[in-house]
Amino acid sequence: MRIITRTPPADEPRDWRQILADSFRDINSLLRYLEIDTHPAARALLASDSFPLLVPRPFAQRMQRGNPDDPLLLQVLPQASELETAPGFVADPLAEKHSNIRSGIIHKYQGRVLLLAATGCAVNCRYCFRRHFDYQNNRIGRKEWQEALDYVRSDISISEVILSGGDPLMLSDEALNELLMLIEDIPHISRLRIHTRLPVVIPQRLTDTFIRNLNNSRLGTSVVLHINHPQELHDLHAAPLQALRSGGTWLLNQSVLLNGVNNEAGILRQLSEALFSYGISPYYLHMPDRVAGTHQFDVSEQDALRLYRDLRSVLPGYLVPQLVRERAGVPFKSVMADC
Ligand code: SF4
Repeated sequence: MRIITRTPPADEPRDWRQILADSFRDINSLLRYLEIDTHPAARALLASDSFPLLVPRPFAQRMQRGNPDDPLLLQVLPQASELETAPGFVADPLAEKHSNIRSGIIHKYQGRVLLLAATGCAVNCRYCFRRHFDYQNNRIGRKEWQEALDYVRSDISISEVILSGGDPLMLSDEALNELLMLIEDIPHISRLRIHTRLPVVIPQRLTDTFIRNLNNSRLGTSVVLHINHPQELHDLHAAPLQALRSGGTWLLNQSVLLNGVNNEAGILRQLSEALFSYGISPYYLHMPDRVAGTHQFDVSEQDALRLYRDLRSVLPGYLVPQLVRERAGVPFKSVMADC
């Protein structure tokens, strides 16, 4: 497997918002750019009506030209199969609506709370577990943060705030810092975790300001990147990740096990080794959630366990992520046993 890295040309926009604005937004222009000579099926175009294609150029640059089965492309390319129904695949498989106790807050784990800091993303992943989520009623801006955080303030059993979304790094550095300060102001919060895929698809999102603000926080900080394939790591990630780490922010990764993308022990082994070389600890390997429109990515539990055994046999324990499945109504992730 070839890991593609590329130094951007001097005239490439450096600001992440410009890069995001210049993303691919339709199937044909992405396929043309990748020199893939196929016409998308009409039903694939239909699938992109309800959940549009969105692919930033730095992510597209890591795809292999001429390869319709490129593992990065398969994560973002709308497919006709998304319109099929499949038994057991539903809009809200984790029943998040029950733990979405108020706008912008999901409280399903003891001691931790999710704050939906932003409702958009920089990339639309076809396997997304929140692709049918009620973002409309969870759109909270700066004006509503204080109200949402009043909930956190009122429950002293909560010690960790998890910024989720959408992607919380869609916020500007200024807005993020404002939010960070509001959270720091709650005495019983000791940890802040940020779940994000944005720097994976636009490495320039790891700005000096973001790194400095996070590293200067009084809170114990961690960033959980969502990287599914070793090809997603880029030489542009190295310096900012190193700066985050050396400033005291813990770097973790969670991947989703995706049929056709990373469901081979060899790929997962390369991913863990690449993560280690960037100072990121493999944390979770998630079974894909059974979300309507995503059945083409599903991997059976039997196959996942077989693959996991293979992975454990070739890696030291600290490079093996936990294989987990989230189940509706269970207040923790279920670790899948391999014995
Ligand atoms: S970045 Fe995360 S939340 Fe956004 S589309 Fe991808 S999987 Fe879904």
